[in-house]
Amino acid sequence: MLSKAFLNNCRNVVSRQSCDGAAATSVGFLNKSTSNAFISTRNSSSAAIDDDEPSFFEMVEKFFDRAALCVEDKFAKDMKGKLSPEQKLAKVRGILRIIKPCNAVVALNFPVRRDNGTVEMIEAYRAQHSHHRTPCKGGIRFSMDVNLDEVKALAALMTYKCACVDVPFGGAKAGVKIDPSKYSENELEKITRRFAVELSKKGFIGPGIDVPAPDMGTGEREMSWIADTYSQTLGHYDINANACVTGKPITQGGIHGRTSATGRGVFHGIQNFTEDATYMGMIGCTPGLGDKTFIIQGFGNVGLHTMRYLHRAGAKCIGIMEIDGAIYNGNGIDPRKLEDYKLEHGTIVGFPEASAYTGESIMFEECDILVPAAGEKQLTKENAHKIKAKIIAEAANGPTTLGAYEKFLEAKKLVIPDMYVNAGGVTVSYFEWLKNLNHVSYGRLTFKYEKDSNYHLLESVQNSLESKFGKNGGKIPIVPSSAFEARIAGASEKDIVHSGLEYTMERSARNIMRAAKQYNLGLDLRTAAYITSMEKIFKVYDDAGLTFV
Ligand code: NAD
Repeated sequence: MLSKAFLNNCRNVVSRQSCDGAAATSVGFLNKSTSNAFISTRNSSSAAIDDDEPSFFEMVEKFFDRAALCVEDKFAKDMKGKLSPEQKLAKVRGILRIIKPCNAVVALNFPVRRDNGTVEMIEAYRAQHSHHRTPCKGGIRFSMDVNLDEVKALAALMTYKCACVDVPFGGAKAGVKIDPSKYSENELEKITRRFAVELSKKGFIGPGIDVPAPDMGTGEREMSWIADTYSQTLGHYDINANACVTGKPITQGGIHGRTSATGRGVFHGIQNFTEDATYMGMIGCTPGLGDKTFIIQGFGNVGLHTMRYLHRAGAKCIGIMEIDGAIYNGNGIDPRKLEDYKLEHGTIVGFPEASAYTGESIMFEECDILVPAAGEKQLTKENAHKIKAKIIAEAANGPTTLGAYEKFLEAKKLVIPDMYVNAGGVTVSYFEWLKNLNHVSYGRLTFKYEKDSNYHLLESVQNSLESKFGKNGGKIPIVPSSAFEARIAGASEKDIVHSGLEYTMERSARNIMRAAKQYNLGLDLRTAAYITSMEKIFKVYDDAGLTFV
């Protein structure tokens, strides 16, 4: 059961009256007349609402339900047209019912011949959660934890994530149930290429249909195999074939800054909230990153780059947890040295500038920010009370269970939700996709023009000043500041990507803060983030006039 404190919190949150801005009433989160109306129409796969540690997909559904209860009255009230209030509410609920489930899933089993001659069957999935915008978008994961429920949950999260940061895609996700470290490069290439062929055959890949990207256990190499396989087969006649996947190497149509984009986005996401005096005040912290310590779970793509950018901003990484061990140094760990060590040794264990951590879990140690950047459901109702960090930045997808989230809200911790904070990857993937469709890199057409314009501007200012004041004083040199000097040559692709990402993260943070305030949600940023996504997805369906039914 959800605790009393949590219900009290939610009572303020979803009270019909409080959503309208008037005084809170006794209508609460689990008020039957409110909740059952929505829940009873859901498909039967949704578990009861008081089951606080459901499956991953059910967990995403429950977070969705919570936000749905907040917004349905407002959506109905704002709805245009001649329908009665009851009809409007029914229409709102109908649209919310359309948004929630996973639209399509393909489950595959295909063979691979291993280097030793044996044949193995590979289990794989691709889920497309929503087609409200196409193409669908979402990573491909190689992991032994892959299962149908997980890909559906991750696909659903992608829908809300894309909407949260205004990336015009539906959500998708793929999983291949393998441990990539147990396969040779040759075997991994065969598996990846065969998976790409299977997705092509089933209509689950294509620049306008469904566009995968890297996730756990995959990277540029796998994306490049997929792009090549698609463009040599189904995409043979398609000039945009390369846009069938993002996260490619630069030479294969990739974009500068994609590899580090998720970690960079996590950093901006943390920065946007830690710089906000109101939120820091609510959790008893001072604004800014300079005095903060952090611990990361998972030193892969996302963990490493998050660490780099937080470190650069002055925060101190005191601990890292990996699958094979954890390290600790209260004085701080240098990300570059740790990266080099891992590249050389294949592990962070034994890193000479930190001690091996031998306690129960380094995630339970004292720090300001905890960054789970590994798998889902790591912070549960069983261990949530041991977390000392005041801020939890969900770099991984779904690291916090419903039960843990409840406990974090009770303990006045700030959870910066996954669908926002790790959206940097899909944001830059969107830029890459646009680059592929445009067949030109960012800055290519404007770089020289901007540079010449800037010099002309300086020259013009100098000439004007000299013609007015220079008669006695002679020349008046106009010297650009170092900041302007650095930008004088115009924006490169990297500059454009970085600034586009920063802008996206800042704008989305403001929108989440706006929703949290509007719906009186306090620290419940997850519900606020869901609301911002639902507002946008709902509008797509509402403006379409339900002609899609
Ligand atoms: P990755 O495979 O590069 O790294 C994951 C790391 O976590 C690995 O080093 C692995 O050893 C470690 N790990 C796994 N289980 C662990 C455990 N129980 N304890 C400690 N360490 C553990 O994967 P990634 O791309 O960095 O993805 C990490 C998370 O971020 C995933 O949840 C993923 O869905 C999410 N994410 C990734 C991206 C992206 O662009 N790669 C984008 C958004 C979200």
